[in-house]
Amino acid sequence: MRSDMTNRQRIDTLNVTGELTKEEWVALISTYTDEDREYAANLAKEISNTYYSNEVYIRGLIEFTSYCKNDCYYCGLRRNNCKAQRYRLSEEDIYASCKIGYELGFRTFVLQGGEDAYFTDERLVKIIKTIKRDYPDCAITMSIGERSYESYKKIYEAGADRYLLRHETANDTHYNTLHPEEMSLSNRKKCLFELKEIGFQVGCGFMVGSPNQTPETLAEDMMFIHELGPHMVGIGPFIPHKDTPFHDQQAGSLEMTLFFLSLIRIMQKSLLLPATTALGTINKRGRELGILAGANVVMPNLSPVEVRKKYMLYDNKICTGDEAAECRQCLNRRMESIGYKVAVARGDSKF
Ligand code: SAH
Ligand code: SF4
Repeated sequence: MRSDMTNRQRIDTLNVTGELTKEEWVALISTYTDEDREYAANLAKEISNTYYSNEVYIRGLIEFTSYCKNDCYYCGLRRNNCKAQRYRLSEEDIYASCKIGYELGFRTFVLQGGEDAYFTDERLVKIIKTIKRDYPDCAITMSIGERSYESYKKIYEAGADRYLLRHETANDTHYNTLHPEEMSLSNRKKCLFELKEIGFQVGCGFMVGSPNQTPETLAEDMMFIHELGPHMVGIGPFIPHKDTPFHDQQAGSLEMTLFFLSLIRIMQKSLLLPATTALGTINKRGRELGILAGANVVMPNLSPVEVRKKYMLYDNKICTGDEAAECRQCLNRRMESIGYKVAVARGDSKF
């Protein structure tokens, strides 16, 4: 163990070798200072500019169902939250959102929702094929949780390109404090490896500052990302939701989220790395700061305005009252304010 290393040396080692030992991760995560954070952010920004210049990729997020059979303790859509407002978009609503999005320059649609049995493979295959037929130049990302290998394969063969499934935490004990017994980290990981094997561009990720998270669990998250070798990593701060068991827990911090965005960029240089809506929720300029810390993707909301307030994963989620066109304009201005521009492109990862 190189216990005499400084944090800068640890960051440099990560930059050169793409990995750190668990002890090095724990030491870095337990002792970093604002200067270390700034050092990592500058390095990460340089790397993302090398790969992606000053272009930011956008994904149109279509939150198509708020029904969920799971009961993740952190999430406002959990099945035991009887105050959650449930809805499903019709096929026509989904296609209409894509149409609006296409006209606004989106070339990736992210279909996200709770784990909702109504959306059988058959229904999803039809939706994916229709979107691909009408917008062959667009990518489709699915984010609908854990399914069987066969189901993933059908969705892939219908034309879906990418799949987002955050691992949430790579530590078993921690995982079991965030989820009820019927869910397991081993199944989560199995799904991720299967998705990759099938051919999806895969995204994992975790919440920064989730209850019971420690430098050790975060070290394991970083090591798991290294092991999986995903194309995307979604991280954002944990934000409490008032009707969940974690209602009185603290939100994750802006600074720590930015630090992890930078570290992930330094570790896997060509990754697609979103500055998430949750980051924009805990700080007005969170997404801009995320881009400046090494992120290169933003995922504005394309869901019909009528349903946006019903897809409340956490409290005070931003952009729930604006039309897609307004969000798009606002995003242009935000990116221009930091010297970046929004790209009209599918935005695949540059592997
Ligand atoms: N049901 C799917 C997709 C919707 S949830 C799934 O779970 O994969 C998408 C992500 O929102 C989750 O992976 C989780 O990391 C994040 N999320 C849920 N509740 C949150 C909260 N309270 N604060 C921050 N992020 C949250
Ligand atoms: Fe359902 Fe996803 Fe929320 Fe878990 S995080 S309760 S799977 S919507």
